[in-house]
Amino acid sequence: MTTPAFPTGTILGYPRIGRRRELKKAVEAFWAGRITADELETAAAELRAATRERLASLGLGRTDSSIPEAFSYYDQVLDAAVTVGAVPTRFADLVAADGTIDLAGYFTIARGEGDRVPAEMTKWFDSNYHYLVPEIGPETDFHLASDRLVREVAEATVAGFRTRPVIVGPVTFLLLSKPSEGAPEGFRPLDRLDDLLPVYAELLAALTAVGAEWVQLDEPALVSESIEVDRAEVLSATARAYALLGAVPARPALFVAAPYGSLDDALPVLEAAPIEAIGLDLVRGGIPSELNAGDKVLVGGVIDGHNIWRGDLAKALDTLESLRASGATVAASTSTSLFHTPHDVADEPLLDARLVSWLAFADQKVGQVATLARALDEGRESVAAELDAASAALADRLAAPGVRDGAVRARAAELTEADFSRGDYATRAAAQEEALHLPALPTTTIGSFPQTGDIRRERARFAKGEITEGEYVGAMQDEIKRVVELQEEIGLDVLVHGEPERNDMVQYFAENLDGFAVTQNGWVQSYGSRCTRPSILWGDVSRPAPITVGWSSYTQSLTSKPVKGMLTGPVTILAWSFVRDDQPLADTANQVALALRDEIADLEAAGIGIIQVDEPALRELLPLKKADQPAYLDWSVGSFRLATAGVAPKTQIHTHLCYSEFGVVIDAIDKLDADVTSIEAARSKMEVVDDIKRSAFGRGIGPGVYDIHSPRVPSVAEVTSLIETALAGIPERQVWVNPDCGLKTRGYTETVESLRNVLAATRAVRAKV
Ligand code: GLN
Ligand code: ZN
Repeated sequence: MTTPAFPTGTILGYPRIGRRRELKKAVEAFWAGRITADELETAAAELRAATRERLASLGLGRTDSSIPEAFSYYDQVLDAAVTVGAVPTRFADLVAADGTIDLAGYFTIARGEGDRVPAEMTKWFDSNYHYLVPEIGPETDFHLASDRLVREVAEATVAGFRTRPVIVGPVTFLLLSKPSEGAPEGFRPLDRLDDLLPVYAELLAALTAVGAEWVQLDEPALVSESIEVDRAEVLSATARAYALLGAVPARPALFVAAPYGSLDDALPVLEAAPIEAIGLDLVRGGIPSELNAGDKVLVGGVIDGHNIWRGDLAKALDTLESLRASGATVAASTSTSLFHTPHDVADEPLLDARLVSWLAFADQKVGQVATLARALDEGRESVAAELDAASAALADRLAAPGVRDGAVRARAAELTEADFSRGDYATRAAAQEEALHLPALPTTTIGSFPQTGDIRRERARFAKGEITEGEYVGAMQDEIKRVVELQEEIGLDVLVHGEPERNDMVQYFAENLDGFAVTQNGWVQSYGSRCTRPSILWGDVSRPAPITVGWSSYTQSLTSKPVKGMLTGPVTILAWSFVRDDQPLADTANQVALALRDEIADLEAAGIGIIQVDEPALRELLPLKKADQPAYLDWSVGSFRLATAGVAPKTQIHTHLCYSEFGVVIDAIDKLDADVTSIEAARSKMEVVDDIKRSAFGRGIGPGVYDIHSPRVPSVAEVTSLIETALAGIPERQVWVNPDCGLKTRGYTETVESLRNVLAATRAVRAKV
């Protein structure tokens, strides 16, 4: 075949949710029964059409395959699973006679239904995005079960575009899968590669038939050492997969993209494979020391898809030019899909203009790619003005007031070992027992209660100045009072205030700390229809005034039960914000930790005896390369300890980690030295218990017994069995009973019913032990 030209500038993907979260709204309307499947399809098609037009107007070509066709209703990994017919057995009845699954069925796999638990969700590489884990077993009947991607390419053609379809590659797909429930011991999804490949081959042929010239296969698993399969096997699977796909007779040209890090020893494998283009993440990875790409196109990911800084455009061009010096054909691209960034800085009228000049969201990054492409095609001089403007903005940023604050830096410079250590656990445990008098298997929640329309409305009215601060505080206090009464009535042991005043667990702190800015429309997909609005951490961080102390002391004044103060930890604040890239993360983390340390001291002084510092993102920021992990764990654990080590022994420090694959980071979690750690465990069916059993973890642990990611109410029997599973592996004195995570996304009816079941189950187990 003659290889079609690869566009000189492209992006690996673009936000799917819409500038005004149109997709979220449409999908949720469909779930609520307010619109039909056809209406949802129409809304999605409109969004895809708008995206293509937008990308063309920003400088990508309409017909040169530079625009990725990378839409998803919920998740790209679920899309791949549904495309190849990998539907978990418990959802088999959703598959029609012809092997396909409709939209409603697709969402059911994602969200569960009745007794059927949804597919497990876990983080996508080192990002804050979560994908659905495919379940593969010997029984999985691979077949081409969806023509959605094919139809989307055809839809683009009708609109006058030739786009580049994007799908998760076969190796990554299987490496991210887990063995299905009935799979025999020792079975690994990768064992099914040879059965899966013909389906990909069939898909490639179908894409060619509708006019696709290039297809993008995303293989980020190749950059990750955290994958549990032996590296040599990953490499041989990759070689086999692309030898086979490369041999498909009528296929599009193959662009294999490897975002999120360097390919290392997988690069020679791809270089030797019969594919036509390789995507390198040059932001995370750097230029490979040896390149033998032959006549393949090297797609240099030099524009950071993970962050929102305008960055050093001249340096990005230098990188592309040195890549080209290897003799290869080079194209400019983003390092990852842009779906980790919001749509458009121009959509942020309230941001400080100077800050705006330092930023690039997805649309601006597309513009940067277009600029770099022009430089590659027409020479560096042709974009001199753009390069100079970017360099000037960068220089302005590094010298701007607030980016460096002398007092913050002086305090950080004076820290010693002692500031990071709380002392002996046995002493603490005894002091806490005396101070708190908790029953066996103490019950608590993770912090938030359902965020009702009323709460959101009051917060919005206050933000707009429609009600006074006094009225706002009164409304929130009414809510707190209701939540306290509810918890007392249900019988929980350690109460929370419910977090009604928080729009988001990170943004709330960002709004109350110096060094951060918050956006209006900067939404980023977190999973499914869920979006977050990361704050921008642009300067040195400090706490101008106490943040949570008033709310927590008010709550404690309402009850004789202990109230848990609720803070977000330094690592999570960093992970869920867009962070400055001009100093080591470790330094930024310690600045945040010191601000939290002051808050914790104030909470303690106000009589709050239990303080939870949430670190759900600890695992999330873990570098993909093993060599980088110890240094990360060192500073991340250190920042948590710096935040929490100032308290008296009798003050109980909790931490919470959602989704944490406990096994991987158990030593680090142990080193956090929290008195109690709560984690996700219901959805993953107490898999963590084995990890804990094998470890020396000796402090309090609350493996979740209620999966809050689904509206399902767990039965008393189900919760009882989960608690018993925990007790079979962990000593009773260590075990706490709690949900998997906060309740803010749930409704009250299911929450109250579920918590009642949790308490009934706890009482039943307490009576037995
Ligand atoms: N305390 C937070 C809440 O309950 C924790 C949320 C989280 O872990 N993501 O909402
Ligand atoms: Zn959580």
